[in-house]
Amino acid sequence: MNLLAKILDYSLWPGLMLIAGTGLAVGLSLQHGPLAFNLTYLVLAGTLYLLEKARPHEPTWLEADGQEIPDVTHTLVTKVAVQVAVVALANSGITLQWGARSGGPIWPTHWPLPLQVSIALISAEFGLYWAHRIAHEWPALWRFHAVHHSSERLWFLNTGRFHFVDTLKSLILSIPILLGAGAPGDVIVWVSGLTAFIGILTHCNVRMRFGWLNFIFNTPGLHRWHHSKDLREGNKNYGENLVIWDLIFRTYYDDARRRPPAAIGIREAMPPTFYQQVVVPFIWNKYQRKAALKKRVIEASLKVLPGPCPPPT
Ligand SMILES: [Zn+2]
Repeated sequence: MNLLAKILDYSLWPGLMLIAGTGLAVGLSLQHGPLAFNLTYLVLAGTLYLLEKARPHEPTWLEADGQEIPDVTHTLVTKVAVQVAVVALANSGITLQWGARSGGPIWPTHWPLPLQVSIALISAEFGLYWAHRIAHEWPALWRFHAVHHSSERLWFLNTGRFHFVDTLKSLILSIPILLGAGAPGDVIVWVSGLTAFIGILTHCNVRMRFGWLNFIFNTPGLHRWHHSKDLREGNKNYGENLVIWDLIFRTYYDDARRRPPAAIGIREAMPPTFYQQVVVPFIWNKYQRKAALKKRVIEASLKVLPGPCPPPT
């Protein structure tokens, strides 16, 4: 029984990726890539929702945090718009035009598709890695990325909880690498699809184990460290899909001897509604000052409040 449980732990991540990848491959072969991607993504999201209930990694993260509506709205506003833009770009033939304009397509279009997709993933990952790293290390960009990190639990629904400026910055620093090199539309759809599948798995609250996969892919095990409030752990593991650039630039972090923290989030204040979260990066310092003042007033008033009545004698 123990052996079976162990096999299940280790096979969930690769198994779900294999099923999602097969769904996308079948859709692309039938010339219905975008439809297949959306259907596969929905099935994967539904499966993760059920798995989170059945075998959570962190049971306290199952409790509602009142952020479900902002999570979904950020997802719809940012991710869907971006994915539509990427698919439209890939289908418009602009990729080859860009490649031609930058000195002719240098992309090895005659290589097998899996090899092309691997090269595309590693190349795009370089841009994604730096887009993510500067979002943590530059205060002017952190205030946008803080919307994502303000979540106090990880689960499949907050995968798309990103400020749209944050998402566009990552897109601008990654997709042009592929467009400039003349990557074909199918390769870009594959990279976008795999990024979405790896992304939703990375945030899920499902008990899984990863073994050697932790040295290739950005797994939930690695990403839970990235959401730590302790910046010695949080400012690590910037890879979106792969960890190759974390290993090269020495920002890889894992510690098999202990569990990643359950208490995650940010040190700063974050307003509760979607609209406020979209606005707050633009008024960041003012909002933080007001929030700190409000906190001090509440703490002071709690101190002067009379204690509970003594029991009758
Ligand atoms: Zn981050």
